[in-house]
Amino acid sequence: MRFFVPTDIYVEKDCVKKHANQLLVVGTRALIMTGRHSAVANGSLNDVESVLNSGNIPFQVFDEVEENPSTDTVRKAVQMARNFKADFVIGIGGGSAIDAAKAVSLLLLNPAVDADDLHKASSSPLDHAPVVAVPTTCGTGSEATPVSIITNHGIQLKKSIPHVIFPALALVDGKYLASAKKQLIANTAVDALSHMVESILNIKSNAFNRMFPEYGLKLWGECKSALLSDAAIDSGLYEKLMLTSTIAGMSIAHTSTSVPHGMSYDLTLHAGVPHGPAVGYFLAAYTEICAKFVPEDVQKILSLLGLKNIEEFAAMLRKLIGTCTIPSALRDQFAAAMKKNRSKLDLVPGAITAADIDFIYEKSLVVESN
Ligand code: NAP
Ligand code: ZN
Repeated sequence: MRFFVPTDIYVEKDCVKKHANQLLVVGTRALIMTGRHSAVANGSLNDVESVLNSGNIPFQVFDEVEENPSTDTVRKAVQMARNFKADFVIGIGGGSAIDAAKAVSLLLLNPAVDADDLHKASSSPLDHAPVVAVPTTCGTGSEATPVSIITNHGIQLKKSIPHVIFPALALVDGKYLASAKKQLIANTAVDALSHMVESILNIKSNAFNRMFPEYGLKLWGECKSALLSDAAIDSGLYEKLMLTSTIAGMSIAHTSTSVPHGMSYDLTLHAGVPHGPAVGYFLAAYTEICAKFVPEDVQKILSLLGLKNIEEFAAMLRKLIGTCTIPSALRDQFAAAMKKNRSKLDLVPGAITAADIDFIYEKSLVVESN
């Protein structure tokens, strides 16, 4: 058993200001990466800029990170970082901005590697510039993982890049959720839930790393009724939702995600489904298959969430993220590709069959005839 998280992580209100000293020693010139709007709207960009100004750290802002960031965006941002002579990268936003910041940090120190080569394995580990992560969604936990998920549209691939990039520092503050719509909070909370469920229903699950998803699922269960209700989320829950997401990130940092995430990438790439729902559609059926292999683990997950059975789990997910309809030809194409995805199938805690994969697709997606 091994346990390792090298990121210095703080979770508290006004986290960026309170930990200004930690932020100011990460580097001397910063590239800040954000999406187009949210980091301004929720105050996170202003908080980071104030701290950098107070410590006389020069910075430039790249604010063009799109959802599911692309190799083209990463290439453009690294050019800005090089021109500015940045020596560290700050990702502020959801998983997209943080993942893009990680990829830029890698290319910054490896000028011979083009953004189009990010998905290729290197013969030896590549170094990267330090990354600071300031999450503003409660889903990916990217602030606590070594993973960066990038889309290469040229080869129609959305996948994690094979490089280990833990942020040096993560500053996690629930107050940034105040500007988020309820559906964004629900979508991203389903992503965090999936990280914890896939971490337990995983061949790499062990007594050390289980502490994270088991505690996180209990916290998620405490947020469940607020997520399911039609009312807005009470601001008192923001910190718990963010903490749960970070804990879910720590969970997959040790096990990695499994089949539902493997299935989600095609749904996002080819049908434009946001990440959280794209994973969540497959979660109940994957859990049902795993009940054949590790029934006690499935029972444990359900009881931590305060649910009686898998049917209740599926109904809860439907209420949170609805259903997804795709053409049958597309579903068959996704299923055929998934049957060859050994990197995810080998993590299942049992001998998953082709029929099991078909079962998950049939149960999880609504199909329209072509
Ligand atoms: P996201 O793609 O980062 O952001 C989704 C949307 O939410 C964007 O329009 C963004 O607006 C907006 N937004 C962000 N924070 C907001 C806030 N506080 N208030 C209002 N709007 C806000 O969503 P995400 O689900 O967090 O990240 C998804 C990406 O992370 C996917 O590419 C997924 O594959 C990846 N992922 C990574 C890991 C990992 O370990 N690295 C794990 C799971 C998933 P702006 O564009 O204006 O910012
Ligand atoms: Zn995810």
